[in-house]
Formats: sequence, C-alpha cells, structure tokens
Amino acid sequence: MNENPLSSQSLDVPPELVRDARAARNIVVLTGAGMSAESGIPTFRDTRTGFWANFDPSALASASGFKRNPALVWGWYEGRRRDVRRRKPNAGHFALQDLAKLDGVESLTVITQNVDDLHERAGSTDLIHLHGNLFGSQCFACQRPYVADTPSAVEDLAEPDAEEDRPTPPPRCRRCNGLVRPAVVWFDELLSPANWTEACRHVQGADLVLVVGSSGEVYPAALLPDMAVERGCPVWIINPADGLDTTFRKAWRSTAAVALPALVAGCAKEE
Ligand SMILES: [Zn+2]
Repeated sequence: MNENPLSSQSLDVPPELVRDARAARNIVVLTGAGMSAESGIPTFRDTRTGFWANFDPSALASASGFKRNPALVWGWYEGRRRDVRRRKPNAGHFALQDLAKLDGVESLTVITQNVDDLHERAGSTDLIHLHGNLFGSQCFACQRPYVADTPSAVEDLAEPDAEEDRPTPPPRCRRCNGLVRPAVVWFDELLSPANWTEACRHVQGADLVLVVGSSGEVYPAALLPDMAVERGCPVWIINPADGLDTTFRKAWRSTAAVALPALVAGCAKEE
C-alpha cells in the first residue's frame, strides 16, 4: 500500500471518460462518503469520538437505539449538525454545476448517500438524498416533518467544544407530542420508496453514471450502477481506493475535488 494514497493519483483525465462525458446528455452522479470527507466531514466511524467513542453505531444510528435512549441519539445528531455547519463544499461539489453546463448536457442528477447539505450549498438542485437529510427533522410517531420555532440563526462557527457533546432530549411533535428525530435513514430502516423509485428512474434514463467517493459496492445503493451497466450505459468509479470492481465498470483512482474539476477542464478543451 502506498503511504500517501493521493500520490498515486493521476491528474490526467482518462481520454475514454472525456469521450463518454462529451457524448452524455443525461448524467447521474452517485456520491458517497469520500465526497464529504474532502470537506473535512468525518466518515460515520470517525464521528464517534470524545463522548461518543464508546457507543456502538447501532445505539446512535438506529430506530431501536432511539427508542432506548432518544436523548443520546438526538445529542449525537446535534453534534454532527454543528460539525457540518462548520464545513464547506469542496471543488468537487462545485464542479458538478460546471459539468451540468457542458454543451449537450440536458440533465445532471446527483444521487447522494451523504446526509450533509454540501451539494445544496454548492448549488445542486436536482438532488436525491438516498439516506435522508441531517438538517431535516420529523416526528418518530406520526412522521410529520418538524420545523423548530426558533431556528438557531446565529451559528457558533468556532472550533468544536467538547462540552457541547452530551445527550440532549429531542423536541416534541406539536401534533401528537411524539419525539422528534432526524430525517435520516437508520441502519435498521429501509430507504424511502419514493426516493428509491426516483433514483431508479434517473439511472434508467442516464447515458453516463459517475460513482464518486464511494466504492459503489454498498447495497442497496450499488444496485444503481449495476442497473446502468445492464443497460450498457458507461459507469465510471472515481475513488482513490484500491480494489474496485472494474469488470464492468471503468475506474479512475482519484478524488472528487481533484477529478471532477479536471474532467470539466478536459471536456472544455478543444480537441
Ligand atoms: Zn407527531
């Protein structure tokens, strides 16, 4: 294993990818944790630091864990929201807007496994959050969306304060007095059928699928590139990790913040 995974990355866009992108009208970009990691958002495992280090993921990110200890789960999500607010979209998030504006491109849909709002903040509007949204809340009992009375307009953007990390009782639903939960998909829950159907529809209509910052091998999200491959649609995996399945997919070992701006530049260059 190379000591610095980035050193083995190539800045040169694979010519075949440039050809595929230039020919594409409807692009689907499936993004995973690697995309947010470049903005400094830790992967799930790494968010369990400090106070949370001793808790099992199933206690913090499951419906059963929430039922057992709602304050523990809500407090942890409050901490994750504070952390994400301090981060900014990276060059990869922004490059997707430029990719959408290339000649011939009619649509670019982002289907993300990430629950942060970095795609939105970079300007993506055609966006599906497969695993939900960290900044959305809903009632655990009646499912109604919950909007706080007094959204904290002034965010503390200072460095994280470990003192803030503690169990915090969630608010109550105004309709049924149920507990309010984050609008994310937990380990013991299914994806929203509406989101999934919408994601499948876009993939069925795509003529280029990019899988960015993900190995593309975690199910059910991995069914989406599989679906594209079956239709003969080019699928490119852009990820720095080794060991990608390249039997039917093409891979470029690079990261979102490096590869996506380079791809845009490569497509814009005169032939
Ligand atoms: Zn309710």
